[in-house]
Amino acid sequence: MLAVRDEITNLVVLLITAKPAWEKRVREILNSVPDTRCEITACSNIAQARDVFFSLSIDLAFFDLDLSGARDFFSCDEGRDFFDHTAVILMATQENETYARQLMQLGAQDYFLKDELDARLLHRVLYNAVERHRMLLELRTARHRERYLTAHDALTGLPNRETFNERLKEGLEFANRYWRRIAVLVIGIHRFRKINDSFGPGFGDRVLQMVAMRLIPTVSAQDTVARLSGDEFGCILTSVQHPQDAARAAQKIIHELSKPIHLDGREVFLNPKIGIAFAPSDGREAEVLLRNGLAAMHSARMIGRSHYQFYMGSMNESAMALLDLEISLAGALERGNELMIHYQPKINVKTGSVQGVEALLRWNHPKLGIVRPTNFIPIAEDNGLIVPIGEWTLRTACLQRKQWEREGYTDFRVAVNVSPRQFREARFAQRVKEILEETDLPGELLELEITESSIVEDVEGVFSTLRLLRSMGIHIAVDDFGTGYSALSLLKHFPVDVLKIDQTFVRDMTTDASDASIIRAIVAMADGLQLAVIAEGVETAAQRDALLELDCPMMQGYFFARPVPAVEIKF
Ligand code: C2E
Ligand code: MG
Ligand code: MG
Repeated sequence: MLAVRDEITNLVVLLITAKPAWEKRVREILNSVPDTRCEITACSNIAQARDVFFSLSIDLAFFDLDLSGARDFFSCDEGRDFFDHTAVILMATQENETYARQLMQLGAQDYFLKDELDARLLHRVLYNAVERHRMLLELRTARHRERYLTAHDALTGLPNRETFNERLKEGLEFANRYWRRIAVLVIGIHRFRKINDSFGPGFGDRVLQMVAMRLIPTVSAQDTVARLSGDEFGCILTSVQHPQDAARAAQKIIHELSKPIHLDGREVFLNPKIGIAFAPSDGREAEVLLRNGLAAMHSARMIGRSHYQFYMGSMNESAMALLDLEISLAGALERGNELMIHYQPKINVKTGSVQGVEALLRWNHPKLGIVRPTNFIPIAEDNGLIVPIGEWTLRTACLQRKQWEREGYTDFRVAVNVSPRQFREARFAQRVKEILEETDLPGELLELEITESSIVEDVEGVFSTLRLLRSMGIHIAVDDFGTGYSALSLLKHFPVDVLKIDQTFVRDMTTDASDASIIRAIVAMADGLQLAVIAEGVETAAQRDALLELDCPMMQGYFFARPVPAVEIKF
């Protein structure tokens, strides 16, 4: 009792009786309750009580059953509402005690007989009633919460997929009836896996929560934002008239989600991709519309260069092909004629000579045409196919290098990209060794390009793999340098040979002074650590000149040559 009493400090009490003497009596006792201040409002008839009850937030109501109209009141819904909202204590006489018990079954908290009333009884009844009512409320809140949880996503608090589908169905019914249009936006975070991989799933979860927080204000109150699955979110836009309306919404979302996310002292950039489907033109049913939105999103992910993509009739076919990518990718390896390698020269601009070539994987998909490696390598990483694909690439590039050697081109390395998952394989170094032996290529003619994220994890393991590779004469290049999250201090200890300055810095270096400064810093650092440095993605003469000025003569990019089949390479 004490514990309960501790919690009751202020009570708003409604006292409903037509008898002034009773009112006085109950008031006195209520005012003497220890540790509790009762704010009492008295009403002498039901109409008054009703007004007060529904305009004030009442904790406890004392109801005199002798009041005229009491039975009528409790036989209608309004009376029952009383019980739902508030702890009601009935004041009865022996004549209506049975009725009081019946009302308890309907939800009244307690009753007492007026003749028996004394302060202790009233105090006890009051505490019990408030406490029981609170428990009921908690129970109701718990049920409410349970209902909430089944409709919402536990991580982000957004409506979940089921709720999304329900709302979409409702929206479609409405739209069909009133000739309105509805747009479904499916939002995916491209390469979200990379974030999970680099920083752990806990970090990834928090990024998703931030994504949800940023999404909510991008749509209006009558629209829905939901989490559909892992890194996929959905929006239902109910007041769109033209495709431009949906495009604007998509742009707004992209704008919000592309702003850097700062978490745990890290800065993360997201790459959102959005698919848009319209009702009724792209489907009149919820499932169809969602499927088409997804297809458009996949298309934006895989092929499109833009961040959002409208659904097109032909898309499902290709989207299905993409969703079946695992199967087709495995098939591509077996069929052997869909995967191929293009080579891009690395030039020493001072001498004009080709100092190396980079092997870049291409997949000539039977339906989709050329699929870029950035689009299928993450999938191959997910399902493990990257290992056989990577070995195929390495073997093919080594054989090609061997062929060039036979043709008399002796003095350059062929560079092969290695994905993090491939690099983490325990037998990676061993497999490289076997492939070199198989193809009879000296390690001195091979360079492996690894990304920064490959070296930040499992430092010990990476260290010994790199040492093994270098003992075979292989060069190690750190690809996309500057975009990852590597601790610069690691570089000092890691056995690497080359830093490849990422093309994002090169792209803006002639207009953005900070990018030029970053390049200058990387060149200086490489010099200090006695590493070679090469700039990627050089597209213009201005960039070339600026790089020369910064003392970075090794370059690679469309300005000199695009990646081409081996036979087209000119040394
Ligand atoms: P990367 O290793 O950084 O390769 C450079 C990418 O930039 C290539 O794209 C290349 O075609 C492109 N590029 C070259 N010069 C320019 C330029 O001047 N301007 C622009 N805008 N782009 C230029 P690609 O071939 O689409 O490859 C993308 C990424 O896919 C590669 O980035 C690499 O990380 C990965 N990749 C490619 N082949 C393989 C492979 O065999 N194995 C693995 N694991 N990853 C690969
Ligand atoms: Mg590369
Ligand atoms: Mg690169």
